[in-house]
Amino acid sequence: MSRPPKTTKQMAALRFDNRFTRILPADPLTENRRRQVYGSCYSRVKPTPVAAPRLVAYSPEAATLLDLSEADCRSKLFTQVFSGKLQLPEMDCYAACYGGHQFGNWAGQLGDGRAINLGEIINSRNERWTLQLKGAGPTPYSRTADGLAVLRSSLREFLCSEAMFHLGVPTTRALSLILTGETVERDMFYDGNPREEPGAIVCRLAPSFIRFGNFEIFTARNELTVLQQLADFTISTYHPHLGEPSPDVYLQWFNAICRTTAELMVHWLRVGFVHGVMNTDNMSIHGLTIDYGPYGWLEDYDPNWTPNTTDSTGHRYCYGRQAQVAHWNLAQLANAIYPLIGETEPLEQALSDYTAHFDQGWQAMMAAKLGLVAYEPSLDRELIQELLRILPEVETDMTLFFRQLALLPMNPLAAAMTKEEQIAPLTSVFYRPEQLTHAYTNRLAAWLDRYRERLRKDNQSDEVRLKRMHAINPKYVLRNYLAQLAIDKVEQGDFSLVEELLEVLRHPYDEQPGKERFAEKRPEWARNRPGCSMLSCSS
Ligand code: AMP
Ligand code: MG
Repeated sequence: MSRPPKTTKQMAALRFDNRFTRILPADPLTENRRRQVYGSCYSRVKPTPVAAPRLVAYSPEAATLLDLSEADCRSKLFTQVFSGKLQLPEMDCYAACYGGHQFGNWAGQLGDGRAINLGEIINSRNERWTLQLKGAGPTPYSRTADGLAVLRSSLREFLCSEAMFHLGVPTTRALSLILTGETVERDMFYDGNPREEPGAIVCRLAPSFIRFGNFEIFTARNELTVLQQLADFTISTYHPHLGEPSPDVYLQWFNAICRTTAELMVHWLRVGFVHGVMNTDNMSIHGLTIDYGPYGWLEDYDPNWTPNTTDSTGHRYCYGRQAQVAHWNLAQLANAIYPLIGETEPLEQALSDYTAHFDQGWQAMMAAKLGLVAYEPSLDRELIQELLRILPEVETDMTLFFRQLALLPMNPLAAAMTKEEQIAPLTSVFYRPEQLTHAYTNRLAAWLDRYRERLRKDNQSDEVRLKRMHAINPKYVLRNYLAQLAIDKVEQGDFSLVEELLEVLRHPYDEQPGKERFAEKRPEWARNRPGCSMLSCSS
C-alpha cells in the first residue's frame, strides 16, 4: 500500500516527545560558556545560526523514519531546521554531559562538544528517534575546540552511516548533509599547516545517543543519584519489558548491552570496518556504531591495520583488536554501574558471557562468509585459522576475496583443474601480483582443496552456495578512496558523486551492472594519500 503524498506540512507536524529533557536533571546554567557541569545529564543550548546553509544530500530511508517526503527534504524549511538556523516550536535543544576513557585513560568530562540534540520524535510507527546536529556550534562541553565540523568528516559520516545501515550493521543514521556556507580552520595532521575548509552539518538519528561515558561521568564524580536517574530513564524508555528498576534489572540491562555490543563487533569484522576511535565515549549503549571519525575499511586484509594516525604507533583500535577493546570498554561500563548492583560477580559473569557470545557469533559469521551451512568446530576451526594466516601473507583485498571465493567452482570436477585454473577467479583480488610466489600459490591451492573437501560435506550446489555467500559478503563498501573522491567533488561544487555513492551503497550485496568501478580494489594513487589511507581525529 502506498502512502498518500506528504507535503512540507509534515515538517511542522513532527510529533515531539522530549523525554530526555523532561525526565532528567538539567544544568541550571543556560549560558553557553565552556565549563564543568555537575549533577546534570545535559545543558540546554541552541545551535549557532549559519550563514548560507545548502543541502548537499539527504537519505530517503532516514527521512522515512521521520515520515518526511522528498518534498519535505527539498524544502527551504528542512535546510534551515537541519542546519540549526531555525528551530521548530517543540524542539528542546541540549548538549549531553558525558565522560570517557580515551586510549585507555580516564579523560574526565567530555560531553557533546559539537553535537546538539534537537529533541525526540515519535514516528507513525511509534518509534522514538532522537535528532542530533553534529557541527552546529559550541556548547558548554566544547572545551578548547570550536564546536564545528568540516565537509570531509561530515560527508564521511553521512555516507558511512547509511552504507552501514544497508549492510545490516547496527548504526546511528544520517538524515542530511548540509554545507554551512562558512569555513572552518583545521590543521588536518597537526603539523602546523592549517587550512580553511568548508563547514558542514550532519543531522543524525538514533533511538538515543547515550554512550558508556554518560554513566561513567556520574560514578567518577560520585553523583550516584544522577547515575541511577539516567539508568532508570534508559531502562524505562528503551527496555520497558525489563520492568521496575532493581539490581537484577540493572544486571539484565547490562547483559543486553553486552549482547548487542558483541553482535556489533561481529558485524564490523564481517564487513571489514575499523572504527578507529573506540573510546568509551564513542560506545553506544544500544550497540550501534556511533561517531564516525577516522574510521576506515580494510582494503588488504591486515588485522593490525588502523586508519587513525593518532593510533599509528599503538594500534590499540586496529581491525583485529576491536572485539577485545569492546570487552575492555564494557568493563568500564560495568565499573560505572556497579554502585547500582553492588556485586561484582554477576558483572564479571556478564563480561565473560560477552566473550562467549562474541566467539560464537564470530564463528557462525566466518562459517557463513565461507558459505558453510553451519560452523562445525572440529572441521572449521583450523580451516578458518589457516585462511586467516594465508590472507595477510600477500596483500589481499578482503571484500573482493570473499566475493570472488563464492565464484570458485567447487564441484568434484573442479578438483581436476590445475592450481592456476583453480585460483583464476581470485587473481583480481591481490594488490601485488609479484607476491604470488609458487610457495604462496601452493599454500592457497592446498587451502582451497581443503575447503572443497569441507563443502562436499554440506552437499550444496555451487549456485546455492554462491547465493548464500553473496548475501553476507558485500560487493560494495564505502572504500576509503571513494569517500575521498566524493569529498574532492563536493569541494568543487559537484554533488553528483555523493548521490551516486548513496545509491550504490543502498544495495551493497547486489551485483549492480554498470557500477563495478565502485567495487574495484583501491587504486595505487590512493595507497598513501591522506584521507584515503591515513585519517586524523581533526575533523
Ligand atoms: P571524538 O572522540 O572525536 O568523538 O570526540 C571526543 C570529544 O571531543 C567529544 O566530547 C567531542 O564532542 C569533542 N570534540 C571533538 N571535536 C570537537 C570540536 N570541533 N569542537 C568541540 N568539541 C569537539
Ligand atoms: Mg565522540
